[in-house]
Amino acid sequence: MICSTDAPKKEMKISERARAIGASPTLALDARTKELQKQGVDVVNFGVGEPDFDTPDHIKEAAIDAIRKGFTKYTPSSGIVELREACTRKFREENGLDYKPDQILVSVGAKHSIYNAVMVLCDAGDEALIPVPYWVSYPEMVKLAGAKPVYIETTPDTGFKVTPEMLSRAITPRTRVLILNSPSNPTGAVYTREELSGIAEVCLKHGIWVISDEIYEKLIYEGEHVSFASLSPELMNITITVNGVSKAYAMTGWRIGYAGGPKEVIKAMADLQSHATSNPTSISQKAALAALTGPTEPLERMRQEFKRRRDYIVERAQRMPEFRCSTPSGAFYIYPDVSGLIGKSVGGKVITSSSVLAEILLDKARIAVVPGEAFGTSANLRFSYATSLERIKEGMDRLEAVLHEVR
Ligand code: PMP
Ligand code: GLU
Repeated sequence: MICSTDAPKKEMKISERARAIGASPTLALDARTKELQKQGVDVVNFGVGEPDFDTPDHIKEAAIDAIRKGFTKYTPSSGIVELREACTRKFREENGLDYKPDQILVSVGAKHSIYNAVMVLCDAGDEALIPVPYWVSYPEMVKLAGAKPVYIETTPDTGFKVTPEMLSRAITPRTRVLILNSPSNPTGAVYTREELSGIAEVCLKHGIWVISDEIYEKLIYEGEHVSFASLSPELMNITITVNGVSKAYAMTGWRIGYAGGPKEVIKAMADLQSHATSNPTSISQKAALAALTGPTEPLERMRQEFKRRRDYIVERAQRMPEFRCSTPSGAFYIYPDVSGLIGKSVGGKVITSSSVLAEILLDKARIAVVPGEAFGTSANLRFSYATSLERIKEGMDRLEAVLHEVR
């Protein structure tokens, strides 16, 4: 018998690659919130970006039907042909993007699509441009690829959007890719056609790839969604367009995202995926097919409800003198500046950062919000309003009560 004492002592070594990253702060906060809720604590969850609506029935039925019919085996690792064709139709009809089915890859969520794209576009030492504030996973994905995240700081003056000038200044001979996100998580900013054209010119001039994350496309309250690559045929050659069903169809748990792009890049992403996850779940693919080809009313109903919530939460936040909050045009987040609270204290606890403020709000008011540090800015808090109007009201009442105690 081999005893553990006989085994040669080996230091536990975690790879440098893994040590360079941390857990997703949004998912970590969500886990903590759900744990508290399980213990019976009444937390208002403004934390995670996840629609509270149920997945529409016709989508669920398609999945149940798939199970009943035994559609429960491996599929082509890039996704079933019908779904890839549905993606090409969606891109063509809604976004003006003419991809062929071999230019589409279906993955395990848009997060996986972006990860695949970063992995095949970036080598060690390359630089990836990431506008700040950014979605939490972009820098970590870039680091996992061995590349370097280069941050482009934006300000509320430009609506938290990158301008062609800011972009030009950040470019070096090592720049490989720009990760663009409109509508944006966490700011809700939506780029206009003109703004995107300016960015496109710079990218084309310098031969920079663009990963265009358009996951919040369906959640726009003012203005229109413009797909970056639709602006000119040349952009189709340098852009990976990413979308998915999580946000638009309330399908976060089903894990289906998809990407369109130049054939060679999509093939490289597909090869990578074939060794990492094989196909996305067969049943979820059938559900996503029903989502993309089904009625659009549930979508519009959800958008209208999100707009009502946005109007309410923005109005409440703008009435709080400690907050500076603009009205975002898309997604389901507000991103108020709370820097006026830094240095003050609540119940004897000094607010030294937005992270400390978020902790205080969870402890004292039982509301979960994500500190701006997770998105690269220290002056803000992110509130997801993907929860019912009633809960938003309750959460804002609790917030107001805590703010009254600030000294
Ligand atoms: N991009 C952004 C900006 C997001 O907020 C999310 C939400 N998690 C994703 C991509 C990934 O979405 P999913 O993997 O659920 O499709
Ligand atoms: N995108 C969502 C958010 O930002 C989900 C969490 C995650 O995928 O990290 O909250």
